[in-house]
Amino acid sequence: MSNIRILLPDQLGSHFHNDHQGEIVILVPFQDLWKRKMHRAKAQWWLSAILHKKEELGARCQIVECESVLDFANNFKEKASVIAPTSFANRKAFMNKDNFEKLASRGFVTSEKEFAQWFEPRKDKRLRLEDFYRHARVLHSVLVDAHDEPIGGQWNFDADNRQSPPKNQTKLDLKKAYYPVEDEIDKIARKRINDLEKDGYVFIGKDELREFAATEAEANKVFKNFIETRLNAFGPMEDASLTNDWHMAHSLMSAPLNIGLLDPMKLIKAVEKEHKNGAPIASVEGFIRQIMGWRDYVWHLYWIFGENYIKDNNYLKANNKLPEWLENLDTKNVKANCLKTIVSDLEQRAWVHHIQRLMMLGNWCMQQGINPQELVDWFDRLFIDGHPWVMAANVIGMSQYADGGKMSTKPYTSGGSYINKMSNFCGGCVYKPDVRVGKDACPFTAGYWKFLNTHKDKFAKNPRMSQGVNGLKRLKDLDQLLKEKSNTI
Ligand SMILES: Cc1cc2nc3c(=O)[nH]c(=O)nc-3n(C[C@H](O)[C@H](O)[C@H](O)COP(=O)(O)OP(=O)(O)OC[C@H]3O[C@@H](n4cnc5c(N)ncnc54)[C@H](O)[C@@H]3O)c2cc1C
Ligand code: SF4
Repeated sequence: MSNIRILLPDQLGSHFHNDHQGEIVILVPFQDLWKRKMHRAKAQWWLSAILHKKEELGARCQIVECESVLDFANNFKEKASVIAPTSFANRKAFMNKDNFEKLASRGFVTSEKEFAQWFEPRKDKRLRLEDFYRHARVLHSVLVDAHDEPIGGQWNFDADNRQSPPKNQTKLDLKKAYYPVEDEIDKIARKRINDLEKDGYVFIGKDELREFAATEAEANKVFKNFIETRLNAFGPMEDASLTNDWHMAHSLMSAPLNIGLLDPMKLIKAVEKEHKNGAPIASVEGFIRQIMGWRDYVWHLYWIFGENYIKDNNYLKANNKLPEWLENLDTKNVKANCLKTIVSDLEQRAWVHHIQRLMMLGNWCMQQGINPQELVDWFDRLFIDGHPWVMAANVIGMSQYADGGKMSTKPYTSGGSYINKMSNFCGGCVYKPDVRVGKDACPFTAGYWKFLNTHKDKFAKNPRMSQGVNGLKRLKDLDQLLKEKSNTI
């Protein structure tokens, strides 16, 4: 047994060290973290979490600043244990170095070994989240009865979880959520980030008051409050957006989960128990599917798809540069109400919820032909929960269809009418969701048709896209539409 445990900055929960009694070293790799134009709120929160962990562990813990994980691993000669890192680059850093005892990864529900056993016989077939998710429910005995049948009579309550938001409201009628309260350590973290900025490091966005959990205790409180105030609405409101409700009924768990503060199985068990206490099955199942299904699936696909998946996939040959207003989160000239609201929220706190990432940000970038690799870099730096492993399936696969359909049967794209159905953005917009040409044209509606037209040869062969492609022939204003520059800003 080594007497030192090395923790990477995304391995901060007690399940990363409660099997270890000796010294603990937390790495802060400068180049990997701060030299990347990270969102300021993400940098402050992450550093705060590291400093809080150090304080919690006391004298047996030290923080070691290094250029990169690779640099540290090359120069550290003592014996130490390390839990499998979450990226190819960081795993490689420890490879072939005998002084490191390498332990299996933690922080996910299904282990890499269990996933490999499920995946091996299916590796030549199309992968489906639903198949993995059902397997995981049985494997871990979650929401199943004594015969391994689903509690509630069905595996999936997706159809109940796509409700439009309530009319004439700009926020959901829910009790106020709990947010962590800052302490002295937050001030130290903020000062450190400000000092780094003076030394030439660049940060983007604002950092006013920390809203995301930076300790295990805070994350537990946020989660308890989610169960009490939001779980029941989580399912039905999963895909809805309202202008004055930045997190609707979402849990805000991804950031603490992805730096390892909480064990996901604890969340799953707590929510499963709530069903026994009367919480609706559509919300309970929907939440468990996100954590045990989607989160784990995306994690395992990162390894299965391989190291080059992100850099090598650009099926739609999208090579436009990310516009400066998005890179700098600068909305002063943005007129599209949905994009203006969402990018302002992102500037504020380095987070917007799932459907806003998919239906607005991802959809707009795909329609505009933004390069998927640039977009991966953007999501990774500017989102508080962004890490390389999350990018592969979510950005390359699901949002940008850059892998040509390895994990989605069709590109996720829509025009303004669907955004109008699922939000209240369009009422306050200078554009009209159902207009595709002229000064009122909604950028998403015009963008949708242009996108279909650009890729019609590829999409005509896809049964789930061919109807849309055929619709192009019925557009009397197609010539005009194609000539016009899309409205956005
Ligand atoms: C383009 C795009 C980029 C994304 N980037 C990230 C990212 O950088 N980091 C990240 O954790 N999630 C990412 N997601 C997934 C999802 O949007 C976030 O996990 C979610 O918005 C986090 O908010 P929440 O904790 O309130 O989630 P909730 O809506 O409350 O969901 C509960 C939990 O489920 C998990 N989850 C649900 N869907 C996914 C998913 N597709 N991938 C991974 N975990 C999931 C998260 O841990 C989340 O905390 C991305 C999705 C898209 C479409
Ligand atoms: S009209 Fe179009 S651009 Fe404006 S808010 Fe609706 S979807 Fe967004």
